Amino acid sequence: MARERVVNNAVGSTVISGGRVLDQRGERTADVLVVDGVVTAVGAELAVPERAAVLDARGCVVSPGFVDLHVHLREPGREEAETIETGSRAAALGGFTAVVAMPNTEPPHDSLATIEFVRAQARRAGLCEVAPSGCITMGRAGEALAPFGELAAAGVRLFTDDGNGVQDAALMRRALEYAKPLGITLAQHCEVASLTKGAVMHEGSCCSRLGLPGWPALAEELMVHRDIELARLTGAPVHFLHLSTARSVELVRAAKADCLAVTAEAAPHHFTLTDELLAGYDALYKVNPPLRTPEDIAAIKAGLADGTIDAIATDHAPHPPEAKEAPLDQAPPGMLGLETALALAITELGSLMPLAAIVAALSWKPAAIAGLAERHGRAIEPGAPANLTVFDPEQEWTVVPTRLASLSRNTPYAGRTLRGKVRHTVFDGVPVVIDGTAQR
Ligand SMILES: [Zn+2]
Repeated sequence: MARERVVNNAVGSTVISGGRVLDQRGERTADVLVVDGVVTAVGAELAVPERAAVLDARGCVVSPGFVDLHVHLREPGREEAETIETGSRAAALGGFTAVVAMPNTEPPHDSLATIEFVRAQARRAGLCEVAPSGCITMGRAGEALAPFGELAAAGVRLFTDDGNGVQDAALMRRALEYAKPLGITLAQHCEVASLTKGAVMHEGSCCSRLGLPGWPALAEELMVHRDIELARLTGAPVHFLHLSTARSVELVRAAKADCLAVTAEAAPHHFTLTDELLAGYDALYKVNPPLRTPEDIAAIKAGLADGTIDAIATDHAPHPPEAKEAPLDQAPPGMLGLETALALAITELGSLMPLAAIVAALSWKPAAIAGLAERHGRAIEPGAPANLTVFDPEQEWTVVPTRLASLSRNTPYAGRTLRGKVRHTVFDGVPVVIDGTAQR
């Protein structure tokens, strides 16, 4: 059957042809028809409407769109590192149809004006949904609560002071009590600041050998423990951002066994890279929380495999080269993540968990945590909004920083050959990535 291919049909029909459709319902080989932003048919050998775009998905997996719970898009305030448009493009190329933008912009996400600005920039870019998180405290300063009610009424579902943990236990308790009736989720960056002053890397044998100030695992684990107990006390949900230590995973596992409303994410660098990489004093490997030990990596992987850790979230943190070339103590923490997340997950977790579980951790589980499950991560069936990712789970490719869409280049995976590549991304019914190329 001859199928005419029309690209860039901003509104209209798309057929995703011949892929393995994989979602929370299972797996089957089928075509997927998308009309006006909605999945209208799923089945074998679907007739192709006139003027429909055809996306070849043979040999590929067709899954619900990925959702990243944790990205730093830098706009407003630091557009030299990333903009909402460039970050959205990186997200789309990584297979994400929605991302949660962290609030540590300038100004931060503690007012409706900033939230609306971020949304407007995202709509203009039109490459993925950007759901701005709200701050827990004004200015992320840890003193006065942000206006949860007003922001929640405007649709903000996840609140965090990411970059900072909420240090004051009484304030965090009050925040949870305030959050619960609003149906919003507080997400914690777990770091007891008094234990990490001046720290540049994981506190351990490597750190002592290098003579660098260390960030002890305990600084994370104390706050994970505290917030689990606050979740128990208040009944409000808590989401743990970027878990990095073995003990943190154990704590969350025990909390889930107690049926507490806790969820957790881990970043790809915390299941792929160790603190030994800091031996060259290269700030490319400086990240917060820091790269840890092989034992921690094994625990993070086990936590993902048994579902203790719900989601893979990138903590995509772009920085311009001059910032990352600064000495370790001055360089900002963070690394890129959006365009390598799927491949790192398949390459590093593929032998430990089924592909369906990897997709769950990238798609419908984070969609539910982010409050985005109406539009993203939905089972692929008639009536579902067409936010879809098509990827080749076998394709090998090599990470070349200059080929990334992000404005910044601070990936620690340059030159690494990985398995698994996003081929097409459909956002709101529009193919925004076709054959690995962004369409806008
Ligand atoms: Zn953080």
